[in-house]
Amino acid sequence: MVRRALLKWYRAHKRDLPWRRSKDPYAVWISEIMLQQTRVDTVRPYYERFMERWPDVRALAAEDPDNVRAAWSGLGYYRRARMMLEAASVLVEQHDGAFPSEAAELRKLPGFGRYTAGAVASIAFDRPAAAVDGNVTRVLARLHGIEGDVSKGPGAKQVWSLADALAPGESPGDLTQALIELGALVCASRNPRCESCPVSAQCAARSTGRIEQIPPPKKRAAKKLLPLTALIAVRDGALLLARQPESGLFANLWCPPLLDGQLSPEAAMDEAARALGFEISGAEPAGQIRHLLTHRQLDINILRIEAPADIKSHRWAKLAELKDWAIPSVTAKCLRAGLTQRERAQTQLIERSTAASRIKTAGQGELPL
Ligand code: SF4
Repeated sequence: MVRRALLKWYRAHKRDLPWRRSKDPYAVWISEIMLQQTRVDTVRPYYERFMERWPDVRALAAEDPDNVRAAWSGLGYYRRARMMLEAASVLVEQHDGAFPSEAAELRKLPGFGRYTAGAVASIAFDRPAAAVDGNVTRVLARLHGIEGDVSKGPGAKQVWSLADALAPGESPGDLTQALIELGALVCASRNPRCESCPVSAQCAARSTGRIEQIPPPKKRAAKKLLPLTALIAVRDGALLLARQPESGLFANLWCPPLLDGQLSPEAAMDEAARALGFEISGAEPAGQIRHLLTHRQLDINILRIEAPADIKSHRWAKLAELKDWAIPSVTAKCLRAGLTQRERAQTQLIERSTAASRIKTAGQGELPL
């Protein structure tokens, strides 16, 4: 009953999204990875560019990782891109470029958790595999009236069992997408549109008036504060960049040279020599930015500096070519504060910054990005 109602509703109401036009497991996989923690509207242009440039797993596996990281710039959660490249190599080297069709086999690939394996197996191969993300968890918890924390432990286990029980039958792929779509479009965390819901008659949370309490709101852990200073140096139309270490924050991506702490120009001049290995001959405050990550709050002082041309540990990147570099949003945000208007225009990076962010530019007060 529930299953049939979900399928009927999905076929009538599903959004026309580019990744829904293909059952190619590669396309399904790329979209599922990009959609993790990221809004559909944000993903859409990235997905289209990505598929045009790397239309299959062999093309992706053969690519220079720096180019893939550059294409990912601004999408966030860069670990996804790293795991994707690792999985592409394994698929080419050990599976002759073909995806296994069973969730259990897919889970052996790098970056394939239970959700991703279930999504690819069901959507691409119509295998009866469950895929439970935040949307599906909310729908099933409400439908079955599961009280308490369903994000982990016994609550999460119960939700997975319910999804497993629902998976077998006609069109498992559509069923997976129906649950996800219902959570996204109708059974929203706040103000769900129960009057438009295909399973409202079976919904325990609705019949007991417990929709607001199921699932309980997540307690957000306080973000760890990370004070930094970013050094913006431009010389002959090129920007000084430092590649971040292979692990940790912004792994392998390019940022302006960063120093620990929100430093004054004088302190930064001393610290640059010690921590970065080059002397800066002048430093001026250029503003402050705040950048929020899932678990961290970065408060960054921006300093405009004079740096020598020959720094072996860093690279000078032409401003006009910055869009081809693997840079995270935080770099784009630092540049909004630290570059002149003319320099910024050369970078073409402005559209990468997130709309909700704000920066404080020296002498200008707060500006929306
Ligand atoms: Fe969600 Fe309302 Fe449908 Fe229940 S009736 S599953 S709360 S939208």
